[in-house]
Amino acid sequence: MKALYLHVPFCASRCSYCAFTSSVYKSQQADSYLEALAGESLSRGKSSPEELQSIYLGGGTPTVLSLKQLRCLCETIAGFATQDVSKLEMTVEANPGSADAQRLALLREFGFRRISIGAQSFQDHELKLLGRRHQPRDVKIAVENARSAGFQSINLDLIFGLPAQTTADFMSNLSQALKLEPEHISIYGLSYEPGTPLTGDLQAGRVTAATQELERQTYLQTVACLTDHGFEHYEISNFARPGQQCRHNITYWNGGDYLGLGAGACSYLDGQRLENQHDIPEYCSAIASSGDAIISREKLNPEKAAREALMLGLRQTRGISLQEFARRTGFAAPELFGEALAIHRDAGRIEISADRLRLTLEGLLVANSVMSDFI
Ligand code: SF4
Repeated sequence: MKALYLHVPFCASRCSYCAFTSSVYKSQQADSYLEALAGESLSRGKSSPEELQSIYLGGGTPTVLSLKQLRCLCETIAGFATQDVSKLEMTVEANPGSADAQRLALLREFGFRRISIGAQSFQDHELKLLGRRHQPRDVKIAVENARSAGFQSINLDLIFGLPAQTTADFMSNLSQALKLEPEHISIYGLSYEPGTPLTGDLQAGRVTAATQELERQTYLQTVACLTDHGFEHYEISNFARPGQQCRHNITYWNGGDYLGLGAGACSYLDGQRLENQHDIPEYCSAIASSGDAIISREKLNPEKAAREALMLGLRQTRGISLQEFARRTGFAAPELFGEALAIHRDAGRIEISADRLRLTLEGLLVANSVMSDFI
């Protein structure tokens, strides 16, 4: 197992677009949850020091926990990953407003050096529409706190394609993010997930979704702007300064083994995909009674595994090596995906040169629909 993910399903409040496994923080529930998480971690044994490369503490909002709870969680992690943590990439997610100096110092003490901050926007009205709790100035404060605490790599998340947002509005958000000199930027198009308040607003006609053309223009201008500023566009949504790519996510995209702990967490181990119970009380009682809370196990057959490997590999702008793909999956990509490959290559969405197969910029713009042809 190369990567370890731990999920903290608590937030100060729920954002209007959120469909992640998270609920509003309640101290007692968080205590029970952290106990269950420690139990799940114990039942998984310990990491193999030669293999583990990264730890990602995500959510939810890990920094919503009290200091005592955060320390208890860090001790669980330290009990599982017994090797020298200075060799691991250790990332924590945080939201502006909850990333205070004490919590950040504690996370640094346990080896976290990378932080991903959910900035999302620098416009007050956009943050309100998204149901975010923070103000634009809180992002700057969070970045300053992270730098003072000694975090060496900072990611800022931004969302584009908001109702009524123009490309110029988003580029202004991006330029404010750049002023904070992050090592990494992730940009995501707003998606309307079933059952969220924002989707309700859309269905009731209170907000209007961005057009595809607007999203396309915003994405293209973002790619141009960030590459001009020295960022490498290395995955559909991700941009990094040289050497600052997220190793943890690269493990996912390369089809490496990872273990996910916590409510709703997924794992991929020895060709098997596992998913944990999403409901927090049910997760806690499953761990208490049996030590695991797995609700589904799927062993991928070789062809399905190959299709998934292509899909994940193509998320990265460098694409896949055809030889490496054949060695890993036992399938020659041109044979397995023959017709779909030819159609997308002829349309300029896919490029095949020497040993590499990758999406072009046009292909990245419609990546989901291209990939659905390979499933
Ligand atoms: S902070 Fe993130 S996980 Fe929490 S409610 Fe907002 S979008 Fe969801």
